[in-house]
Amino acid sequence: MPKLPVWIAGAGLSGAVIARELAEAGYSVDVFELRDHVAGNCHTARDPKTNVLVHVYGPHIFHTADYEVWDYIRRFGTFRPYRHQVWSTVSGRVYPLPVTLATINQFYNSAMRPDEARAFIISQAEQIEAPVSFEEQALSMIGKDLYEAFFQGYTEKQWGRSPRELPASILKRLPLRFTYGGSYFSHPIQAMPETGYTPIVEAMLDHPDIKLHLATELDPREVPPDTHLFWSGPLDAYFGYRSGRLGYRTLDFEHSIEKGDFQGCPVMNFGDRDVPFTRISEHKHFMPWESHQDTIITREYSRECGPEDMPYYPIRLVAEKQLLVDYVQQAETTKGVTFVGRLGTYRYLDMDVCIREALDAATAFLTAQTSGERLSPFLVSPL
Ligand code: UDP
Repeated sequence: MPKLPVWIAGAGLSGAVIARELAEAGYSVDVFELRDHVAGNCHTARDPKTNVLVHVYGPHIFHTADYEVWDYIRRFGTFRPYRHQVWSTVSGRVYPLPVTLATINQFYNSAMRPDEARAFIISQAEQIEAPVSFEEQALSMIGKDLYEAFFQGYTEKQWGRSPRELPASILKRLPLRFTYGGSYFSHPIQAMPETGYTPIVEAMLDHPDIKLHLATELDPREVPPDTHLFWSGPLDAYFGYRSGRLGYRTLDFEHSIEKGDFQGCPVMNFGDRDVPFTRISEHKHFMPWESHQDTIITREYSRECGPEDMPYYPIRLVAEKQLLVDYVQQAETTKGVTFVGRLGTYRYLDMDVCIREALDAATAFLTAQTSGERLSPFLVSPL
């Protein structure tokens, strides 16, 4: 049977992995990318003044417990071990994050041992049976004091609404540990690409059967018949926003070049509401094996995403669920398209999950081609 041509909208991680998998399976693949570079939001580029590698669209740290994904990504470049460290400045004092024994003892000016701290936090925590909102989740996990210091202000700035309106799932990303030290993430594998993410994605797309079209917006109506489309753009954009716009937060980045070491760690969060940015990334700390005299830092400001802005974080308010249901129903009746990635499935995805789902979406497509079975438009439902 002749193989269907495949078109892919987006040259981020999802699009690049699918393109590579299908090209290796003998398909001819065209990838259309709106921006003038590949790698989507994990794009990295050297700052010409300091020569530091910059995470252009905010910090991206590869961490996973999925060994297949780890083996896969290392086919395309060298990774170096990296343990992510985050600190938070609150009311003029600096604390380690996530909340650990160090954070608790420093915050309460105490010297509790693990069991004592655990019992103390339980005494502070509110009894909430099945927490639904971010606030309920936080109050039941760490109590009012720690919640107000580290999470309430930061979350209001990051998401632009009260933690009472936000889902508990956002906070469930962060652990609470009754030990000292450790990394921000709990995953066994944490690593950074030696020369950045962009060369990795370029290597994925470097295949004779992949044709890359940079700075090219793909209008879904231009896709020829009998061509399969993988869409990693926004789900609502595919349908021309005809039912309305799904809510996103966008980010503004303010870069500045400083002397020496600015903050001594890769990411400093700011819990106070009156500090207008959420965090500062100091890019050279993402690559501790390099040494640079000067440094480049980025302040991150979060705001509501307008029609002309770049969507970053899907908000997924409970109140907006109906609009999402509407788009999912439209997708279910659309043939020849698979929706993938953070924007295509309107989900907050880590990099390893993005790669895993892209690999599985490519496999599902190949299986459907041989079995003739109907291919679902989503590998994982946005709902
Ligand atoms: N968060 C917070 N204070 C912090 C760090 C995180 O309140 O200092 C909350 C915030 O709502 C954030 C969520 O926890 O959106 C998840 O944090 P994570 O570090 O995973 O966010 P990302 O790096 O993906 O923006």
